[in-house]
Amino acid sequence: MSKSAVIIGGGLGGLFTGAILAKEGVKVTVIEKNTTVGGGLQSFTRFGEVFDTGMHILGGMNPSGNAYKVCQYLGILDKVCHQEVDAQVVDSIYFASDKTYYHTAKGKENFVAALAAQFPHQKDHLTAYVEAIYRIVGEFDLFYLRSTKEGAFLPTYSNEAMSPVNHFIAQYISDEKLRNVLAYLNPFYGGVENVTPTYIHALISVLYINGPTRLAGGSYLFAEALKEVILQNGGEVRVSDGVAKVMSADKTITSVITQKGKVYTADYYICAIHPCTFLTLLDDVTLLPKAFRNRLDSIPNTGSAFLLNIKFKKDTFPYINHSSYYMNNYEDIWRFGDETFHWPLGFLYITPPEKEQGAFANKLIVTAPMSWNEVKQWEHTTLGHRPADYQQWKEACAEKLIQKLTEIYPNFRDCIEAINTASPLTIRDYYGTKEGSMYGFCKDANNIVLSQIPIFTKVPNLFLTGQNCGGHGFCGVMLTAIQTSEALLGQNYVLNKINSHE
Ligand SMILES: Cc1cc2nc3c(=O)[nH]c(=O)nc-3n(C[C@H](O)[C@H](O)[C@H](O)COP(=O)(O)OP(=O)(O)OC[C@H]3O[C@@H](n4cnc5c(N)ncnc54)[C@H](O)[C@@H]3O)c2cc1C
Repeated sequence: MSKSAVIIGGGLGGLFTGAILAKEGVKVTVIEKNTTVGGGLQSFTRFGEVFDTGMHILGGMNPSGNAYKVCQYLGILDKVCHQEVDAQVVDSIYFASDKTYYHTAKGKENFVAALAAQFPHQKDHLTAYVEAIYRIVGEFDLFYLRSTKEGAFLPTYSNEAMSPVNHFIAQYISDEKLRNVLAYLNPFYGGVENVTPTYIHALISVLYINGPTRLAGGSYLFAEALKEVILQNGGEVRVSDGVAKVMSADKTITSVITQKGKVYTADYYICAIHPCTFLTLLDDVTLLPKAFRNRLDSIPNTGSAFLLNIKFKKDTFPYINHSSYYMNNYEDIWRFGDETFHWPLGFLYITPPEKEQGAFANKLIVTAPMSWNEVKQWEHTTLGHRPADYQQWKEACAEKLIQKLTEIYPNFRDCIEAINTASPLTIRDYYGTKEGSMYGFCKDANNIVLSQIPIFTKVPNLFLTGQNCGGHGFCGVMLTAIQTSEALLGQNYVLNKINSHE
């Protein structure tokens, strides 16, 4: 096979697509604007500690999981150090309004039992709810790496899978409080009331019930492993020089030109960046139909977040082998992103594992969903050149989060050695996503066609990949990378290889 492909963007989607294509004999060149590849897998070092920018929890890495099988096929299983979280407490959720903790557990029965302990009258409802989310996920052949039918790149799903998630939960669960507890992940995957389709909630919940994992020693190691696959198979990975222009002639793409003026040509071009950013790079926007461009511009993006990274003094704060969620009120679950309520409505905090993890944590990462409007006044500033009032605002945000953590851990302040913060502006500038969106385009149950962006375009040698096309997060982006690769290699080509690799 003598095909060649230029991939614009060396994030999760670009690297997964690049690794698959390179392994299958395509001559791949990945072009990344940042100094390191990874996108959501990037890590950075502060105060001598490695902090992950985005990828804190991922699903599908247990031996029967889709990500495990894809890593096995790519030959990188032994290079990525992943660690399972506690089976008895997968997630701990705290509601400050009544000082109550809930937790979820690994496995369908354990998940039901853990919540039924606090909602005994809802046990049968919980069982039916869990069966329903597994049934919905069962509709997704790709999730189980099952080969898809000829021509079925965009299959159709049941009405239940496409219904708004809050309606779905309410259909199975009669207890108002439990409905909100079950939606605890909602703010962290950009879920919006009456908008987000149930299938997104179902896919994420099933990944969590099957057992999520964490990347030990830094998520960048995963990016490095994918990069190695590309290099070992004759590909190239270019960093510190983003694509500045995409050139075209006769309705096809002819080359890309980087900020430093380098020109790259290939048979195929794969856009692994936000599609709205891609539009700004086209030398001739009419290459893509006006209706498509307007559609991309009109799709709302999921919300952003404020991040607080804390380095602890040695041996002061315990290592917690699960994710923890702080929520002010039960009703807030569906209010994230609404500025009429005071920030923060809640947050996720985790102690990321080291390769040799002991009883104490070196660091803590807090992710507090935040809307773009909170930072809009500084939107014209760039990394390293933000004004003093922005720095003061960030300090005040960090203080609010630390105060809330002190409610749970009274000696919390004494454990802190140093802190670092990031805002929606940081996310926008590092990842190149519109408005610092964490998960790209917001999927809308009421208009699913609007936000379903196919990997094929009207330009025969241009394909899309990444979180804006299919699902988001580690699993969603990886599965879309398989689809994009198959657009070049042939339908089910990669799936058959993955499955025959077992
Ligand atoms: C704060 C935060 C926390 C998250 N936590 C999790 C989590 O715990 N688990 C999970 O599964 N998901 C998580 N996600 C989501 C996950 O990171 C994304 O879904 C995923 O990274 C998207 O992959 P992508 O390839 O589409 O985009 P990205 O990974 O963002 O990659 C895009 C890449 O393109 C590059 N780029 C942009 N413009 C150009 C250009 N002109 N030329 C060249 N390169 C360019 C960017 O620098 C970037 O490297 C989180 C996201 C954020 C922001």
